[in-house]
Amino acid sequence: MIPVVALVGRPNVGKSTLFNRFTHTRDALVANFPGLTRDRQYGQAEYGRFQFIVIDTGGITGDEQGIDAHMAAQSLTAIDEADVVMFMVDARAGVTAADQMLADHLRKLQKTVYLVANKTDGIDADSAVAEFYSLALGPVYQIAAAHGRGVSSLLEKTFEPILENFPDALLVEEDDEESDESGFVEKGLEKSKDDDSEEPASELEALDPEGKKIKLAIVGKPNVGKSTLTNRILGEERVIVYDMPGTTRDSIYIPMERDDQEYVLIDTAGVRRRKKVHETIEKFSVIKTLKAIEDANVVLLLIDAREGLSEQDLSLLGFTLNAGRSIVLAVNKWDGLDQDVKERIKSEIDRRLGFIDFARMHFISALHGTGVGHLFESVQEAYASATKDLSTAMLTRIMESAQFEHQPPLVKGRRVKLKYAHAGGHNPPIIVVHGNQVNDLPDAYKRYLINYYRKSLDMMGTPIKVEFREGS
Ligand code: GDP
Ligand code: GDP
Repeated sequence: MIPVVALVGRPNVGKSTLFNRFTHTRDALVANFPGLTRDRQYGQAEYGRFQFIVIDTGGITGDEQGIDAHMAAQSLTAIDEADVVMFMVDARAGVTAADQMLADHLRKLQKTVYLVANKTDGIDADSAVAEFYSLALGPVYQIAAAHGRGVSSLLEKTFEPILENFPDALLVEEDDEESDESGFVEKGLEKSKDDDSEEPASELEALDPEGKKIKLAIVGKPNVGKSTLTNRILGEERVIVYDMPGTTRDSIYIPMERDDQEYVLIDTAGVRRRKKVHETIEKFSVIKTLKAIEDANVVLLLIDAREGLSEQDLSLLGFTLNAGRSIVLAVNKWDGLDQDVKERIKSEIDRRLGFIDFARMHFISALHGTGVGHLFESVQEAYASATKDLSTAMLTRIMESAQFEHQPPLVKGRRVKLKYAHAGGHNPPIIVVHGNQVNDLPDAYKRYLINYYRKSLDMMGTPIKVEFREGS
């Protein structure tokens, strides 16, 4: 589990600046969920030694009437979803009425709140921030987000107390610094992530202590048909449903069996509770979806045929690949469409999703059950690819033949030389390539190598990560 950090504060204090600093360190993906989460932005953050999910909020304006209702609602949702709240204030502006109002609110919550004074560059910071102690939220952390000043130290100090609850917040330190830059996942969707030693959520662990079940998350934007599909799948199967308590942030885990394979369905749509209590139909939660993706081995991403490919679909796809999870795509609501509409959707998807041609694509109707059975063939295939055992001999042989067919380039007058390769982890499969000057390999060659591995190993449905290590 990695922590969720919400940035809150009035407009203009520097929240977006800090958000960008947290998320742009690597090719982090930022998910914007228009309409749904107006004024909220989610990003996968990596900074210093830490990784976390960060939420940026539009901000809270303080007018005479009080907290602006719309923006406040967005910020409150973000606060609700967060494990840690960073309350940002503007060191140059001093304490404002809006700051005070927000502080009053935050003090009442059972949340970890840190007070962060931004824009401390070029001023006498200590005396400028003194008045913020009156907000009674403990120490005032001084930063200059625009220049990155104080940001590492902010994280070092504020993450220390939460590491016990969120051990995955610590990025795994590479053993040599060269390899730091060399981790590479296709299309630059990269995230320094540990291999399969990652701890699953404890409930999940209890359901699958031996790790033999395929954890399958069904995700997609609101109304795409997640509940309909989940019910369809469960309706066809004999299901043992455990009564799992859940908060708005937790998915429901449903063990099931199909074709002699055991699964744990990670249900983000809240089918169970919907049946139990009619009133509590849950809102779509981005955080819940992101956590479900992290928890899963395979992600089944639903796309709405009637709406075509949306930004949200691409965001979810990005998060899935970035997390190294396997993926199966399903275009839902394929029933009752005219032939020309179908053709148009197919060609749009081909054009825009060409970059993940390794993912199987299904056209289904959750409502009528058409095509649903075949989904599981692709899920099994993706899982098998993601967890396949890869021997050093085989990986080295493939590397050699890739190198033979297409020599690595000269760098600084010397030819880059690949020496051998071995497996470094599962789900996603990690292939570690050793050689001379490998850190200078151009991205194009790295991509060539990944594609070569994919073809040779016949890996469908999973991203592959290739890491490079200098020397032997
Ligand atoms: P938000 O509305 O809270 O998201 O604020 P922004 O991140 O958009 O920043 C508002 C303004 O403050 C922008 O003009 C930033 O360039 C500026 N700003 C942000 N951080 C700093 C900083 O550390 N120092 C200074 N001097 N300006 C900053
Ligand atoms: P969720 O928010 O993703 O869980 O979506 P739901 O399962 O609640 O479905 C939203 C709406 O789409 C409902 O009215 C469903 O009946 C409808 N729907 C779901 N799947 C299909 C499908 O395959 N075809 C058609 N035509 N409608 C569907």
